[in-house]
Amino acid sequence: MTRKAVRISEHGERDRLEMVDLDLCEPGPMEVRVRIRAVALNHLDLFVRRGVPGHHFPLPLIPGSDGAGLVDALGPGVGDLAVDDEVVVFPGTSCGHCEACLQGKDQLCRSYAILGEARDGLATEYACVPRANVHPKPKGSSFVEAAAFSLTMQTAWNMLIEKARIQPGERILIQAGGSGVGVACIQIAKMLGAEVWVTAGGANKCQRCLDLGADKAIDYKREDFVALVREWTDGRGVEVVIDHVGQETFGSSIKCLGWGGRLVTCGATTGPQVKIHLGQIFFKSLSLLGSTMGSKGDLLRICKLVEQGRLVPVIGKVLEGLDRYHEGHALLEERKVFGKVVVEIP
Ligand SMILES: [Zn+2]
Repeated sequence: MTRKAVRISEHGERDRLEMVDLDLCEPGPMEVRVRIRAVALNHLDLFVRRGVPGHHFPLPLIPGSDGAGLVDALGPGVGDLAVDDEVVVFPGTSCGHCEACLQGKDQLCRSYAILGEARDGLATEYACVPRANVHPKPKGSSFVEAAAFSLTMQTAWNMLIEKARIQPGERILIQAGGSGVGVACIQIAKMLGAEVWVTAGGANKCQRCLDLGADKAIDYKREDFVALVREWTDGRGVEVVIDHVGQETFGSSIKCLGWGGRLVTCGATTGPQVKIHLGQIFFKSLSLLGSTMGSKGDLLRICKLVEQGRLVPVIGKVLEGLDRYHEGHALLEERKVFGKVVVEIP
């Protein structure tokens, strides 16, 4: 038996996303084979396809970090799931027995590997993944919705709760509020009682952020967000800034922070090289915090909040069939979609 999959054998443009037929995988001990019904794209997919200078990806590689589907087969030792269970697949794998894992910080495990980045991912009809990554789909969510929140929600959760330790009433500026991580940050920050301001490109994206609960939205293509933040805070600045844009915004993000402010970064979509004036950091007692992914335990909590309707997966575009995977890359590269791009696998 075979399975269809998207595969990257060489880094490059969108034509490097090849459709292949592979042998059906067999689940090893404590693994589960999942019939994937929906796989969501992340900005990470673009880095994996294009390559990153100085970083090694294990090619050939099946991309796709977020997915949902049906349990298809159980490996030896898995006794608490059944064939046809509807499940969501969590993106991060880890050893499960080191100090970081046992402290519930599996994203800090030295063996941590993201599906679709450091090991084969979910852009395939069938994927074999560790039991620890397979969990019941939130009740009331479709496969498309269940595929659309894991990576971004756990990233946002870790930034806001573990790193920024955001408090009710604090003011937070979220850069690129219309991105996958931005949409997740808006919802979680509002749930925690923060006042949420976002930047977004264009009136339409700004309106969508407001619809999701943001208190103010700044169109960075037309407006000077540093000046507006200063005006709205009587020159003081906000308590927290979330920035995963990097090079284009980092210096301005620091200018938006008030004394004692915290800046959390989880990425650099416009480039990683930034200039920092250390005087701003120590005189204003700022904290610069890095964050990558989050823990599987936090994701189980997020699943409950999705089930309760308090966090909502936001879907920008659904594409039918794996052979349209490259269209998803185009949509991300053009930054035209608000919310997640999801590929449904019939
Ligand atoms: Zn570990």
